[in-house]
Amino acid sequence: MNKEGELSAARAAEFTLPDALRQPWDCCCGKTHRTNLQWFRVQPDVLQDLTDILRQADCRRVLLVADTHTYAVQGQAAADVLQACCPDLLLEQFIFPDPELVPDEQALKRLQDWRRAIPVQTGDYWLAVGSGTLNDLTRYVSSQENRPYLVLGTAPSMDGYASGVSPLIIRRMKQTFPAQSPQAVLADPRVLARAPRDLILAGIGDVLGKYNSLLDWQLSVLVNDEYDCPFIRGLVEKSRDEVARLAPKIIRGDEAAVSALMTALTEVGVAMDYSDSSRPASGAEHHLAHFWEMRELLSGNHGHYHGTEVGLALPLILSLWRQLAGWPEPLEKCSRPARSSQAWQRQRTRQLEEAYRQAAPSVLKFDQEVDWFNESKRQQRLARIRAVWPRIRQLAQTAPDPETLTSLYRQIGFPLTPADIGLTPDDVQAALNHASALRDRYTILRLLDDLNWSPAELL
Ligand SMILES: [Zn+2]
Ligand SMILES: [Zn+2]
Repeated sequence: MNKEGELSAARAAEFTLPDALRQPWDCCCGKTHRTNLQWFRVQPDVLQDLTDILRQADCRRVLLVADTHTYAVQGQAAADVLQACCPDLLLEQFIFPDPELVPDEQALKRLQDWRRAIPVQTGDYWLAVGSGTLNDLTRYVSSQENRPYLVLGTAPSMDGYASGVSPLIIRRMKQTFPAQSPQAVLADPRVLARAPRDLILAGIGDVLGKYNSLLDWQLSVLVNDEYDCPFIRGLVEKSRDEVARLAPKIIRGDEAAVSALMTALTEVGVAMDYSDSSRPASGAEHHLAHFWEMRELLSGNHGHYHGTEVGLALPLILSLWRQLAGWPEPLEKCSRPARSSQAWQRQRTRQLEEAYRQAAPSVLKFDQEVDWFNESKRQQRLARIRAVWPRIRQLAQTAPDPETLTSLYRQIGFPLTPADIGLTPDDVQAALNHASALRDRYTILRLLDDLNWSPAELL
């Protein structure tokens, strides 16, 4: 890292969220970093802050979105405080009755239909009360009509609070849509600490996944000259290390530690906003999680929390890095047909059809679009991989030992293996070998594919 990069990484270590209030700033990576987020508060009197922020923002009407559960834990209290402190403020509420709300086209339509019945007016502010799903829906609908939105978080369960994109399930496929990041992320630490344990574990898993996403990002910087930012990397590292250090306290319900988790989750979201991409926060471990989630959706099962699956994928991917760390040269497997050949393409099609079942046609189409069949591009990457192998190996040697992760999991009661949440050996093998086809993103899985390995063979 050059001097500027070192300074930037040191600055990231000192970063605290109110910094996000600052104006856009020019970074040594060449980008001007900016985020919509202006207010971040995790404190017991946060509802009072909410009223102050709305007054300051000249809000005239709040469109509060919750489900019955989040309304009971925080929405009702927010509505009461708003009505008591701001009698002039209009309040409209939409409360999803679903015990397990899914961010799909039906949920989206219900929210949009409700909105259509209320005439849009100046000073409208959306307020999502909840975590992942409620935010994904509110973020999307509010950005469609270009109105600001705020978050009142109820569980430290995922890193999407400050994110600017909405993952939605359309035709049973999870897709990410551009939306907007919130102007405020607010939460009461007492509410966060009382969130269901599985949601808190999921939040921890989502942050620990950064042990791999950052490695994958650096891998692509080496192989593909992808955009890099030492500040963003430093920020994500700082948040991740804090959560790893505090995990046992977080899980015991220590309010300060749970607030630190919420801060880390929001900082990672700011890092994504700063890079205009989920690259800093999502690599192969997320692709495995998306793959499992997709299989669960296809079987009509809503499955497990995202961060739980990310956390379970992580030791698998770290084991692959450990293998690479031992290779003095890039070990190329020569037994597969050349990628340009019809035999390779037939084999790939058959494998993706088996792995993706009903979703295979759209994955195959995407595979063509990202040009994964292109042999000359693969040869170019291979030449680069050979040239920079000592650096790739060095990177691999920095991967944490999967055993260290597993012993942390044991300590905090995180599931230890995919089988613990009902995933089969085939789910694991198919995800390792084919989950990379879900996204146009270079990761260790794509590297192994370039070297002709099926990743599952290496474990
Ligand atoms: Zn930067
Ligand atoms: Zn995630």
